[in-house]
Amino acid sequence: MIRLHGVRKTYGKVTALDDLELDVREGEFFCLLGPSGAGKTTTLKTVAGLETPDAGTVELDGRDMRGVEPYDRGVAMCFESYALYPHKSAYDNLASPLRSPRHRLPAAEARERIGEVAELLGISPLLDRPVGRLSNGQRQRVALGRVLVRPARAFLLDEPLSHLDAKLRQQMRAELKAIGAVRRTTTLYVTHDSVEALALGDRIGVIRDGRIVQTGTREEIWYRPHDTEVARAFGRPRINLLPGSVTADGGFRSADGKVELPVRAGAAGTDVLIGVRPRDLTLGEGPGHELTGTVYVTEVLGRSVEVTVRLGAQNLSLVAPRGEASALRPDDPVRLSVRPENLLLFEADRPERPGRRIGP
Ligand code: ADP
Ligand code: MG
Repeated sequence: MIRLHGVRKTYGKVTALDDLELDVREGEFFCLLGPSGAGKTTTLKTVAGLETPDAGTVELDGRDMRGVEPYDRGVAMCFESYALYPHKSAYDNLASPLRSPRHRLPAAEARERIGEVAELLGISPLLDRPVGRLSNGQRQRVALGRVLVRPARAFLLDEPLSHLDAKLRQQMRAELKAIGAVRRTTTLYVTHDSVEALALGDRIGVIRDGRIVQTGTREEIWYRPHDTEVARAFGRPRINLLPGSVTADGGFRSADGKVELPVRAGAAGTDVLIGVRPRDLTLGEGPGHELTGTVYVTEVLGRSVEVTVRLGAQNLSLVAPRGEASALRPDDPVRLSVRPENLLLFEADRPERPGRRIGP
């Protein structure tokens, strides 16, 4: 429904979008994930028609948007810097798009739409207040609401929850997709937060340096990351990447020989990186292959503890229940087990090659 093909956009010497390919399907909630400066906002502005690409095409509903004014594209965009009327009430800010000639709705219907959106965004009690007197987080929700009340072919949302505190962000994340308009409307949602992308995205596009490096469902991105950088972008603590090589019998051995895993790592002698997610490691005996090491450092994370275990030259991080791990001290010997199903293999000299899921 939203299709960008070979889109290039430069600002002077800066290449913001570099041959960008993007394909968002009808009705989909698509998350564009990438670090600051990756080209996320430029992508949205290009779809909205606020920026003209130097090359490439933008299609909406199969129609080439070249020469089509932003106003005529039928998309509603929520900006990072929320453009609101500070002296008007939150209600009037929400209502103003519905008073424009294009989107005019009968007053009762407008009230109903605004009511639903305001309720789900948790801003109903604020509707009478001037926006200038709201907190940043409240303003951000009004700005988001202002986009969602408007009938549109697609919503373009640029980090719409970034100014909320952690608790509210988590709550909004859960509720955003429940909003009727969001359920019914194709949404291109930009974020730099991988947790948000995993929670919200029907599919996720990972953008880096103005290019989409991988598009997929959360399972595809998690289990078959395009490269070590994508693997590292998802999951906290981060995935462990162990450098080593393939042994004569096809298994894995770390460079210092301290970690051996009986996996099918490929052709003997190849340098590889094995990716082990913290959740696939357990302290003590468990399913899978056993390793021994010493505690390097522990860090309490609420009810659990992140334990980093040293095995020769490499560290492996895992998360253990507080009860099991709270007595651990640096240099204590520990055993751990590696669940082999979801181990990932990267060729060390070509870490840009897609990760391969390898089993025992
Ligand atoms: P993101 O939203 O992912 O943080 P942007 O799309 O805003 O990234 O920016 C991508 C790159 O383009 C950055 O290097 C940024 O500095 C540059 N850029 C964006 N807009 C402009 C502009 N109007 N003028 C000059 N450089 C810009
Ligand atoms: Mg941005």
